[in-house]
Amino acid sequence: MRHRNVKILATLGPASNTKEMIHALHKAGADAFRLNMSHLDIPGLKQQHALIREVEQEAGRPISILVDLQGPKLRVGKFENDGVDLIPGATMRFDMSDELGNQERAQLHHPEIIKAVEVGHTLLLDDGRLSVEITEVGPDYLATKVILGGRLTNRKGVNVPEAVLPVSAMSDKDRSHAEAALELGIDWLAMSFIQRPEDVAEGKKLAAGRAGIMAKIEKPQAFDHIEEILELSDALMVARGDLGVELPIEQVPGRQKQLIRLARRQGKPVVVATQMLESMITSPMPTRAEVSDVATAVFEGADAIMLSAESAAGDYPIEAVEMMDRVARQVEDDPTYPGIIYAQRTEPEATGADAIAGAAHAVSETLNAAAIICWTNSGSTGLRVARERPQVPIMALTPIIETARRMTLVWGLHCVFTKDAQDLDDMVDRACRICFQENIARAGQRVIITAGVPLGTPGATNMLRIAFVGGRDAKSL
Ligand code: PGA
Ligand code: MN
Repeated sequence: MRHRNVKILATLGPASNTKEMIHALHKAGADAFRLNMSHLDIPGLKQQHALIREVEQEAGRPISILVDLQGPKLRVGKFENDGVDLIPGATMRFDMSDELGNQERAQLHHPEIIKAVEVGHTLLLDDGRLSVEITEVGPDYLATKVILGGRLTNRKGVNVPEAVLPVSAMSDKDRSHAEAALELGIDWLAMSFIQRPEDVAEGKKLAAGRAGIMAKIEKPQAFDHIEEILELSDALMVARGDLGVELPIEQVPGRQKQLIRLARRQGKPVVVATQMLESMITSPMPTRAEVSDVATAVFEGADAIMLSAESAAGDYPIEAVEMMDRVARQVEDDPTYPGIIYAQRTEPEATGADAIAGAAHAVSETLNAAAIICWTNSGSTGLRVARERPQVPIMALTPIIETARRMTLVWGLHCVFTKDAQDLDDMVDRACRICFQENIARAGQRVIITAGVPLGTPGATNMLRIAFVGGRDAKSL
């Protein structure tokens, strides 16, 4: 049992892709792992997936696996000496030629960019560290003038914030990665550079329920249809890396707040990502600003906070997870936290499940209960109870391992995989005993249990019980 509501999502990479490291990161506080398909091939994906499942088996706790598709990430090609220095004011040509780039020209094998841009548009290179202004659009080239100079190396990213690109959110490579991942059995599939609701619909169709679809919000265009995008998605990621390149960076904090509020209102998980503890890539201690950034996401009630290069390629992956864990727990213990979280709570919707979730929350406060325990098949009851952001721990009991894994990414849900309840007595007894065993409640404490009767009918949460934890026989389970 973690004493923390917000979840930690750690990206695996060269610094952390061994079984020992995955185990250590999980022990340090990582609840979920992200496999970044920008840097993995299918054999690598299979290997990482197998290692996480081994660690899960040994730890005896469900672990969420998120596979992050690269999406239509645009890149320059390669250079003669692996790079070139762009000088402000100099001209630079980007073209479709296969010749390696040099001081005069760079490979840009993206006809869709050349078609979509206009004279005066900016091309941002290497996460916006460099930029050029387009002075001429040719049939298969762009002539540009360097604005922000610096070294441009092989395969660096290109962003064109001013143009809507007529590209699907999934390339052929993404589709084959997604298929391989879904076949392995993953919990979340993250789609990059979502621009339109149709992009999400495409992923939903492909996943066909085998994984939740997480829409990465990193294109300004996505905000034009954000409600519909969220409606179709199972979760959101505030992908601040690319978002901060495509939008003026000072707009990112407000967008983050907007996205977290929207997602919380709909009861869908939201992940805050990128540069949370960036300096810990090379230093054992973060900056005050980074600690404050992690704290802000926790105060906003995000479901999960993410580590990217810090855990994938940094010198201190374990320390970074430990630091996130410490900051998160401190924030959640802060006397201001319940009030801040509560201020953003939204009223239950007019459904049976929400009425029960809202009631469970209210009763848990009235009785000063030790926990809310929800029996859930699809996970939706768990999500609706988590949407309440109650102050007591929530335990989600499910006979479906995929649900336990997927819900592990959700705020406050302590997920336990267990066989389905036989009858009402069994449902109450087992909820109490597991709660005791997991150290969530002590003998004599009261817990609130939600379920659907008749048992086993999905989507029918209609019951709320108050029970006393006995503690007898707990060890014999
Ligand atoms: P990425 O996504 O790391 O795949 O680019 C996250 C982001 O853009 O913030
Ligand atoms: Mn991105």
